[in-house]
Amino acid sequence: MPGRRIMAWMVAAAAVSGGAAVLAAHATAAHPPAPPVPEAQALDVRDLPVPVPIPGRPFHGPALRTPVPVLMYHVIGTPPPAAPYPELFVSRRLVAAQIAALARAGYHAVTLDRVWQAWHGRAPLPPRPVVLTFDDGYRGDYGAAMPILRRHGWPGVLNLLVANLHRHGWGLKAWMVRRMIANGWKIDSHTLTHPDLATVGPRRLRREVRGSRAVLRRLFHVPVRFFCYPSGAFDAAVIAAVRRAGYLGATTEIAGLARRSRPYTLARIRVAGGEPPAELLHTIGDV
Ligand SMILES: [Zn+2]
Repeated sequence: MPGRRIMAWMVAAAAVSGGAAVLAAHATAAHPPAPPVPEAQALDVRDLPVPVPIPGRPFHGPALRTPVPVLMYHVIGTPPPAAPYPELFVSRRLVAAQIAALARAGYHAVTLDRVWQAWHGRAPLPPRPVVLTFDDGYRGDYGAAMPILRRHGWPGVLNLLVANLHRHGWGLKAWMVRRMIANGWKIDSHTLTHPDLATVGPRRLRREVRGSRAVLRRLFHVPVRFFCYPSGAFDAAVIAAVRRAGYLGATTEIAGLARRSRPYTLARIRVAGGEPPAELLHTIGDV
């Protein structure tokens, strides 16, 4: 009977796939973890990135010139006593208060992709847009920032340093990043190893800029359209490499508002540890 034959085939298929899973598990258990390989070998950049057009319905609005505040956060949490850069920590409670204050003041978080679309007449912007960027990739981005933003239905922008995916204890795990993406976050590249890009040679520059995009796209199946310069360091060669790798723009540590006329040197507003919400609103209003 055809029905029974189909049943038998399904059972056989399930057995084969189950067997494959067992084999895979066995192979993993039988072999100790591979020794670490040098970085150049570990990275596979065969999947070379190509510029990705921003999708979306044609929008017949004006190409806006609106300058947009882009906030720059680092670690969400309380600095341990010996933390070398305590000013890079902002406590979970303070982030929640800052975000609530922004919402009360009429701000609405968007992604850099959305800002770019608006600057090119492909999407509207809310009346008071703000972009919230989180640099490097710390555990608190997932454990604290994501739930806080979710309360407001806001997306975040994760400037992900690929090396931080392998840090035990405080780095983000790939599954955490996937959940952030599912919550509307955008993943932008912050290189493979966080070097000062203005001082590295052309091959390393290419690998850090182009290779990181390839790795992130392959890992997370997202476009990775923006770049963030490590420590804010860049020069003309770095900008050229970022353009060639297909990024639509890049964020810096230059203080100010991000402007359409400077897509590869987008200014940001640093959020210092301990900055009261009212002061942050004042800073945004002042720039
Ligand atoms: Zn960084």
